[in-house]
Amino acid sequence: MCPWLQRGGVRERDWSMTGDNRLLNRLRQQIERNGPISVADYMRICLTDPDYGYYTTSQTIGRDGDFITAPEVSQVFGELIGLFFADYWQRLGCPSQIRLVELGPGRGTLVADLLRAGRTLPGFSEAISIDLVEVSRVLRRAQSEALESSGHSPTWHDRFEDVPNDRPVFVIANEFFDALPIRQFVRMGGGWHERQVAWNPDQGALTFAVADTRHDGDFDQTDSQDGDVIEASPAACEMASSVGHSIAQNGGAALFIDYGYLGPVVGDTLQAVRAHAYADPLAEPGRVDLTGHVDFSSLKLAANSAEAKCWGPVSQGEFLRRLGLQERLGMLAKDKPEHVVASLRASAERLAGSSQMGRLFKALAISTPTGPAPAGF
Ligand code: SAH
Repeated sequence: MCPWLQRGGVRERDWSMTGDNRLLNRLRQQIERNGPISVADYMRICLTDPDYGYYTTSQTIGRDGDFITAPEVSQVFGELIGLFFADYWQRLGCPSQIRLVELGPGRGTLVADLLRAGRTLPGFSEAISIDLVEVSRVLRRAQSEALESSGHSPTWHDRFEDVPNDRPVFVIANEFFDALPIRQFVRMGGGWHERQVAWNPDQGALTFAVADTRHDGDFDQTDSQDGDVIEASPAACEMASSVGHSIAQNGGAALFIDYGYLGPVVGDTLQAVRAHAYADPLAEPGRVDLTGHVDFSSLKLAANSAEAKCWGPVSQGEFLRRLGLQERLGMLAKDKPEHVVASLRASAERLAGSSQMGRLFKALAISTPTGPAPAGF
């Protein structure tokens, strides 16, 4: 997360830190037994291994954690998203029962802020059942606490596919897709080979390697040279397709917000963050956050092929301004002392400023093919 951290902050690998890392030991044994693993498998194991995964074992989000997300920057973020969904619910004719699904809700801050803002529209809150898709038991507890005073009792699921398919769905995902595993392919000798994670016995450390098999047919990248890296995220595409399919079947809308690009792009976006600084992705498996930038064009293709319609992406800054960021700030700042007003302005700048989260982060909406246009797009 936090891709607006200054580059150059990557720490030198500190071998002494890896001594008691059980996940590292397990990965070493697995690689020694079965051979190198793909970057995607490495990411999946590091983030979601039931015993030692980064998300499954720790509280990672917030000022005391490793990275801060938009809902943790300001309540205005979740509130505007609440207004986005309340407005869309109205545009759909106020269906009496909907599922509000959040993918990867973190500490539950966004959904709590969303519900509070949504209460301003009569009937919206009453229509909602909440389904949270979350792998981490630690974070499920935090989400339960965040929603305690909301009057809603969420149901948790390990996978989106487990959410019942019985009524319109409103799906929100903020900084979720960047946590889904990416495959990487490196151009070597004119062909594309999958990048892998191997074990280097001389250094006693994990190291990058490339597989022998060529994947040339999968890419139409003519404008490239040896050493270039291309990425693909089958897991992200499957998720976008499942959400698109559910909306096409039952109605509703989705909003995906994340940092990323509209592909095709050549480049290695795998990054590790710990304690608000860049880290080495291989040095401490399970103890650092690993992410890749999201390829919005492939999410759109996946949702479109599930018969859903995509809107955008638009930049996060533009999206929040269109939803009324300035007006909401004005309301919160009214009659407040100068230091509170300054802090509100600073958090709005962080969310929407083009040198901070405003441009790199993007919002993509999904609806049925004939659904009304969502606010902000
Ligand atoms: N949306 C939150 C948290 C983002 S961090 C926010 O904006 O603050 C990513 C979240 O996705 C965490 O809650 C993490 O536990 C969850 N997560 C990561 N991979 C997942 C997966 N494969 N399935 C379900 N949840 C996942």
